[in-house]
Amino acid sequence: MSDRIPAAVLGATGMVGQYFISLLANHPWFRLESVVASDRSAGKRYQDACRWLLGSDMPEQARNLTVSALGDRLEAQVVFSALPSDIAGETEVEYARRGHLVFSNAGSHRMDPLVPLMVPEVNAEHAALLHDQRRVKGWPGYIVTNPNCSAAVLVTALAPLHRAFGVRKVAVTTLQALSGAGYPGVSSLDILDNAIPYIGGEEAKLESEPLKMLGRYRGGTIEQAEFAISAHCNRIATRDGHMECVSLALEGSPSLEDIAETLRAFRALPQELVLPTAPARPIIVREEADRPQTRLDRDQGHGMSVSVGRIRPCPILGVKFVALGSNTMRGAAGGSMLNAELLKVQGLLS
Ligand code: NAP
Repeated sequence: MSDRIPAAVLGATGMVGQYFISLLANHPWFRLESVVASDRSAGKRYQDACRWLLGSDMPEQARNLTVSALGDRLEAQVVFSALPSDIAGETEVEYARRGHLVFSNAGSHRMDPLVPLMVPEVNAEHAALLHDQRRVKGWPGYIVTNPNCSAAVLVTALAPLHRAFGVRKVAVTTLQALSGAGYPGVSSLDILDNAIPYIGGEEAKLESEPLKMLGRYRGGTIEQAEFAISAHCNRIATRDGHMECVSLALEGSPSLEDIAETLRAFRALPQELVLPTAPARPIIVREEADRPQTRLDRDQGHGMSVSVGRIRPCPILGVKFVALGSNTMRGAAGGSMLNAELLKVQGLLS
């Protein structure tokens, strides 16, 4: 355990930051070395700066670390970023310029043509972009991103279907948890007894990010997948877990059984390599009429499996189903950790 790779967490006191702290506490390959947050927290001990929100206790390794300020020199080469997007943009570039390998949850660089936007089960081969990124930008480090939380769930469900049949059109309506808005997020008086049919910027991300991830790496660029996604994004009063009601048109009209079997059989590189954060099954197909359910299924595969159920005919597009995944694990810290694990195995963590 002593030769584990040191890692820093930016935005360590926030919702996603806490999941990173928790994952790093028991990680076989990485260890927590530094925590970074805003000027409000800098200089304090982590346990005094952070209102711990997870069910497990705050890990011992984190408690007495002094919170660094943004821009402070970091020893750890690997940096996990859970910063708000408006701050992440410049900050992550600066850390990459200093030689750090930045794994970002923020939206700032996801659609940069030279930045891999990755879910390792979906597009591990996009890591090849890192060579182009370093050459063109001249950074000794790099930036790798993982998708928006609802896009992570959708693209995981679409990937095996796109590979097997080809996706032609997608309509998706989300029911998104409060933790997706960070802490303290949406005011209780706004969300109790309510559903809010607007999450700023979310629909544009859900309509664009899967197309980059399902695209092909060719000659230093990603040729994006060419189909349309139409998204409605809604905030509801669940704590964790994004549910997505998906209708889609596939090439060749495969049967519902073929679709279910394709989803059920889906395995990819993280499963072959048995990466520490990889779930045994990236997709779990539910047969019950009323599953997946947010409370029952969001933690499947330690929050890294996407549950798909209610696969049935759609009179407009052909097929419809419900997908559900953890926004904080598969959609944030767990997805980012899996990217770092994949790049370690591929010899790209330097
Ligand atoms: P959050 O709970 O609001 O946490 C924000 C973190 O950033 C805190 O540690 C905060 O530190 C720090 N911070 C805020 N302003 C700062 C500044 N000026 N300088 C340095 N640090 C600053 O947000 P979150 O939900 O964890 O989201 C973090 C990022 O992940 C966002 O970009 C978000 O879009 C993305 N993301 C979130 C989810 C999710 O499910 N929540 C999923 C996917 C992606 P202080 O405590 O000191 O203020």
